[in-house]
This record gives sequence, structure tokens and C-alpha cells, in this order.
Amino acid sequence: MGNLLNLTGKKGLIIGIANAKSIANGCAKVLHAAGAELAITYLNDRGEKYVRPLAEAVESPLILPCDLSNKSELAAVFNQIGSKWGQLDFVIHSVAFADQEDLQGRVVDCSREGFLLAMDISCHSFIRVAKLAEPLMKNGGSLLTMSYYGSKKVIPNYNLMGPIKSALEGVVRYLAADLGPKGIRVNAVSPGPIRTRASRGIKDFNGLLKLATERNPSGETVDIEEVGALAAFLISNAAKSITGNTEYIDAGYHIMG
Ligand code: NAD
Repeated sequence: MGNLLNLTGKKGLIIGIANAKSIANGCAKVLHAAGAELAITYLNDRGEKYVRPLAEAVESPLILPCDLSNKSELAAVFNQIGSKWGQLDFVIHSVAFADQEDLQGRVVDCSREGFLLAMDISCHSFIRVAKLAEPLMKNGGSLLTMSYYGSKKVIPNYNLMGPIKSALEGVVRYLAADLGPKGIRVNAVSPGPIRTRASRGIKDFNGLLKLATERNPSGETVDIEEVGALAAFLISNAAKSITGNTEYIDAGYHIMG
């Protein structure tokens, strides 16, 4: 039976490290410690200086630029993975973007352009990633994206990202059905609030964090390494029968009435 949780020899791509506090960086650290080999991307030249040392700390052999709005850059990432490894076992997509004006306003006020931009980078990009990963996942694989409970319930100040995360969780279910026959599993991870660069864009994030902490059963916050541990499990062979899910890691906040 072997060690089902062992990730030694598994090769994966992580998109979404901006700095040490990024959820994707928590994933990178845990997955590296579990034996996985990681390709890591950075958004642009400005981001590279923050991401490169973190990628080097986890001995990444492929550190590549990837702006998900740039079709050829994303294709180049998968081409380089194909040349280097010839196959791929997992992808972590830990990305969200919305213009500040649209994110901080009421949903009813958000612009068509702002909605489409946020949807493109935060949701459709996961479909593009899945499409490019499919031919490389020759032995099956695991695709993960990051969601949030604002997809299910109206969370104050989450605004536009709420419906976009709802769409993302729907995409996860349909990709899971599409890719299941190839042994590719697709899941969303839904962490409780964590202080990161992205979360700074949410108005009164401190209030949201306080509420989520006070109202969960343990009163504890969630950290990026714990999210990494859940990602490691979902990538491992132990999660062979888990697909299409949104897995909460929020200290139980979502069960509270
Ligand atoms: P973060 O700012 O560290 O990560 C967001 C990442 O998205 C950054 O690396 C940024 O470079 C990347 N990104 C933005 N636009 C991009 C583009 N065009 N192409 C490629 N990458 C792009 O913040 P985070 O909190 O670690 O966010 C990661 C994911 O986790 C997001 O999907 C977020 O919605 C989700 N999430 C965060 C929390 C939280 O409280 N922090 C809770 C639940 C879910």
C-alpha cells in the first residue's frame, strides 16, 4: 500500500506566490517538505525579486514569469514544464484580482469591465490552466484553486469576489466531471481569512478576520502552512476519491449559524 501521503517524486506548478505571506507560499513550503518538486511563477518583473528567493528556498528548478492575462506567457510555462519534466502531477492556482473600485463598492454598482476582468483572472484562468495541464497529467493529477466562504453567504465587504468565487466553485465541479475519466481530480480549498496582500484590498479586513475568529468553534485563526497541509493531502494518493469539492479550512466558521 505504501505511504499514501508521501509526495516524493510528484511534480507540480504553483501560481500565486507574491510574497512570504501568500497562501501559495505556505503551500510551497509544505509540499517541498513532503518531497514534491515545484515549478513556481511570479507575476512580473516587479514581483520577481520577492518570489525568486522563496522559490529558491524550496529548490524550485523552474522559476518562470506568468501573468495569467497573457496567453503566450501561460503557454510558455506549460511548454517549459513539458520540456523539463515531460509530465505534471498537480497545479495550485492561488490567484485573485479585482480593481479596487469594483472590489470595494456594492455589487450592484460594479462595472461590466471590472466584473469581466475579475472573472477572467480569478476564475476563467483556472479553466485555462486546467486545459494546458490536461495533456501533461499523463498519470492523472490534482488541480487545486483557492475559494472563500463569501461564495456561499454574503460576507460584509467581500462584494464582487463573492459571485466570482461562486462561479469558481461551479467550475471546479464541472472540471472535475470533465477530467475525472483521465484520473485528474479538481478541488477548491476554502480558507478562513488570513492577512495577505490580496486581503488588504478588502475594506475592513480586520473586522472580517475578527468576526471569523470570534465566531468559529475554537476561536483560532488559520495560517498558510495549515492550508499547505490540506493542499498536500488533496494532492496525495490518499485523496484519490476526493474530487469536485470545496474543502473548508476555516476552523469551522462555515458551520456556525
Ligand atoms: P496574495 O496577494 O499573496 O496572492 C494573490 C496572488 O494572485 C498574487 O501572487 C498575485 O501576484 C496573483 N495574481 C494577481 N493577478 C494575477 C495575474 N494576472 N496573473 C497571475 N497571478 C496574478 O493573497 P492570498 O490571500 O494568498 O490569495 C491567494 C488566493 O487565496 C486568492 O484566490 C484568494 O482569493 C484566496 N483566499 C484568500 C483568503 C485570505 O483571507 N487571504 C481567504 C480565502 C481565499
